[in-house]
Amino acid sequence: MNFLTHLECALCGQEFEADRLWNLCPACDKPLLARYDLEGASRAVTREEVAGREANLWRYRELLPVRDPRYALCLGEGFTPLIHATRLGQRVAFANLFIKDEGLNPTGTFKARGLAVAVSRAWELGVEEVSIPSAGNAAGAMSAYAALAGMGAYVFMPRDVPQSFVAECRALGAEVALVDGLITDCGRVAAQGVRQFGRFDVSTLKEPYRLEGKKTMGYELAEQLGWTLPDVIIYPTGGGTGLIGMWKAFDELEQLGWIGPQRPRMVAVQSEGCAPMVKAFHEGREFAEPWQGASTIADGLRVPAAVGDFLILRTLRESGGAAVAVSDQEIMEAAKLIGHTQGMFVCPEGAATLVGFQHLRRQGWIGGDETVVLLNTGSGHKYAHLWG
Ligand SMILES: *Cc1c(COP(=O)(O)O)cnc(C)c1O
Repeated sequence: MNFLTHLECALCGQEFEADRLWNLCPACDKPLLARYDLEGASRAVTREEVAGREANLWRYRELLPVRDPRYALCLGEGFTPLIHATRLGQRVAFANLFIKDEGLNPTGTFKARGLAVAVSRAWELGVEEVSIPSAGNAAGAMSAYAALAGMGAYVFMPRDVPQSFVAECRALGAEVALVDGLITDCGRVAAQGVRQFGRFDVSTLKEPYRLEGKKTMGYELAEQLGWTLPDVIIYPTGGGTGLIGMWKAFDELEQLGWIGPQRPRMVAVQSEGCAPMVKAFHEGREFAEPWQGASTIADGLRVPAAVGDFLILRTLRESGGAAVAVSDQEIMEAAKLIGHTQGMFVCPEGAATLVGFQHLRRQGWIGGDETVVLLNTGSGHKYAHLWG
């Protein structure tokens, strides 16, 4: 079914066998990346064939890690609409503004992409229980696919997480533990269960396949734009999986011969209350320092230390991109503007990309005739508590 050949450490380059379970690189504790026989894949499938397939991310199955289609768990994730935001565009005096609406994914966020693929692959490799420390959306998505596979799901959340996130996981059959403290404390408690009970940890970038699920956003953007890419992609960055994934996707697409060498400039938007990537980017660092006292209404951006920090920074630099910090107040104003003009109830992380766009446009960093894609990474429905 697919052309997965091996895994490769993103930092030290060491290679690992693909058909057994891995978390981080055993040599250097950094993320492992899935590698494919892209020449073989390009002989097996054409982009015209892909265009006629089902409207979910498994349309790219040759370039995903699941070997046997019976293990490909599907709730309809991916192939979300790319909306030409013309009414919003009029308000901000910009013609070619697009929003990729990831809020339409199962469980209401693009976390469904990563966890559909990661849980499917773990299931195929014999895992019976999955575990995650999460502030919300990833836990819901993991719970959904674990339920579909009949696997045990263990979620560790900070006690102060909004009730909607806890409710979702419980409704989907997960065992939810509320932990006093931050996401890092949840990580410690989850790790105990991993050691003691042999659960598989699906924390972002700590296993190789959530990245593969999220890279499909890059495939879709290319396909939806007629196998071209926009000039700029603006991404709300927490762990950075989507940003790194799309950048990987573009290289794969070029090697397949489906797109040319042109690349978008990749922009990371973070919240002023937690902006470790923005700081490290501007200081010219290869790795980011952990952010102290992280606080923002955009839960998905409250990631004080990302395992893939060097991959985010590499992507921004290789693409000639930028990194922007925005305030929570600006985020709420932008969410309102998108809602009032486009009829989309977006999550605060998605709204942050519009603020990033406005900053860069004002600075002249984005030209008036460029094509820009904003990633709305989730639905606003899970964040009703922000609207009073
Ligand atoms: C997790 C999340 C993000 C951040 O995604 P990363 O790939 O970890 O950077 C953004 N928005 C929402 C809604 C999220 O749930």
